[in-house]
Amino acid sequence: MTGKTSFLDSVSRNFDKAADLSSLPKGLLAQIKACNSVYQMRFPVKIGNDYQVIEAYRVQHSHHRLPTKGGIRYSQKVNQDEVMALATLMTYKCAIVDVPFGGAKGGVKISPRAYTTAQLQKITRRYTAELIRKNFIGPGIDVPAPDYGTGAREMSWILDTYLTFKGGELDAAGCVTGKPVNLYGIRGRTEATGRGVYYALKETLSYADDMKELGLTTGMEGKTIAVQGLGNVGYYAASICQYEGGAKIVSVAEYEGAIYNEKGIDIDKLMKFRKKTGSILGFPGSKTMKSRKDVLTVKCDILIPAALEGQIHKGNAKSVKAKIVAEAANGPVTADAEEILLKKGVMILPDMYINAGGVTVSYFEWLKNLSHMRFGRLEKRFDHNTYMNLVGLVEEKTGKTIGAKEKDFLTRGADEIDLVRSGLEETMITAYQQIRLIKKRKKKVTDLRTAAFINALDKIASDYMTLGIFP
Ligand code: NAD
Repeated sequence: MTGKTSFLDSVSRNFDKAADLSSLPKGLLAQIKACNSVYQMRFPVKIGNDYQVIEAYRVQHSHHRLPTKGGIRYSQKVNQDEVMALATLMTYKCAIVDVPFGGAKGGVKISPRAYTTAQLQKITRRYTAELIRKNFIGPGIDVPAPDYGTGAREMSWILDTYLTFKGGELDAAGCVTGKPVNLYGIRGRTEATGRGVYYALKETLSYADDMKELGLTTGMEGKTIAVQGLGNVGYYAASICQYEGGAKIVSVAEYEGAIYNEKGIDIDKLMKFRKKTGSILGFPGSKTMKSRKDVLTVKCDILIPAALEGQIHKGNAKSVKAKIVAEAANGPVTADAEEILLKKGVMILPDMYINAGGVTVSYFEWLKNLSHMRFGRLEKRFDHNTYMNLVGLVEEKTGKTIGAKEKDFLTRGADEIDLVRSGLEETMITAYQQIRLIKKRKKKVTDLRTAAFINALDKIASDYMTLGIFP
């Protein structure tokens, strides 16, 4: 028995759990919960000698802040409920990390593997044309980004199609984020969600009392991690935790199966091996597990599901051995499974917090597009000169010379990538501190997801009140 709960049901149940603990007016809570606009479309695309009718969606969950924002997913499993659930999560995600957008999401019901690059381009351009036609895209309206099955390549097709129709718009480049760096993108966007997972975990692992409750020591060094899905989010989360945090990746799952090595799996070597052989299976030193799902129940400190929703459900939650589940994917733990995990004392770092690094850096990219300038361009040289003067003064006053290497380190002005990473780290730390404090202070709040919801609800409610829609 898999005990499947629909993704939208899970999101709705989690919302209700938090709403029950909130003193906000019922009508306001109902307005926050509702999806504001759902656009379901069908369009024909010529594939080979035939026409295929493509099913696609764009859902804008909340207009309390504009533009709305959220990724576009390409998957055979896309359906209206799934896109609604994902758009809903985006609203809370943006509120939690103080990104001033409403939530949205798009979905195209195709398996990208089944199409050539040229065919995918055709589908993407046609989907974008539908969005333009219905006024569902624009830098001040709704701004898509990558999600499962899409990346910078698709975002550049979206931008180019938008420019074809609206080339005269001054801020047109801000109609989509996650673009290639040389096409109005920003450094650090590709890694952003995975890097955000790393910063969030680092902060979580730094609280001695919380770690004691879980039977863990503080710090990431030496922690064992299992990762499901080595795509954009899973790969960067795993590699940054390993190379920068000193964690040990003991198990990895991809489409073709799962592998295990208690001594650790070198993620970059594994990626190279997969590129060469087409599979992670057979990676030197690792054992192949019976099923790819075994990654979810392997013995480890931290489990990072980074593939799709509904992976940990009523049927397998009891077997999860990790002490921390970091929801890098959206909705990987169903509401039923969450009850089981919480009873077992597992800490769940909720999706709407831990995978918010992507939308955070998308926000930076959008700001860059509106300002028409690279971050750091104005101040980098000025800062460098100021630090050089300071170092010179220290040398003069002490009569000692500072070495060239140290001087370079001390006097460097920040580049765009430095500012993006520092802004992302600050965002993930501040958001975690807010959520943790709510959990500590409110007696009835016993899990981080409910705390995150309460944090988001209070911020969104305050926006509605400022707008004067609710007194
Ligand atoms: P992706 O397409 O880059 O990667 C997903 C990977 O998971 C693929 O390599 C796929 O082969 C693998 N996979 C699929 N099913 C699997 C299974 N059952 N077992 C093992 N591996 C499996 O997608 P992504 O952008 O990394 O997104 C992954 C998740 O993260 C999604 O839930 C998405 O909504 C969420 N997310 C993505 C972003 C982003 O910036 N891309 C931001 C926030 C959240």
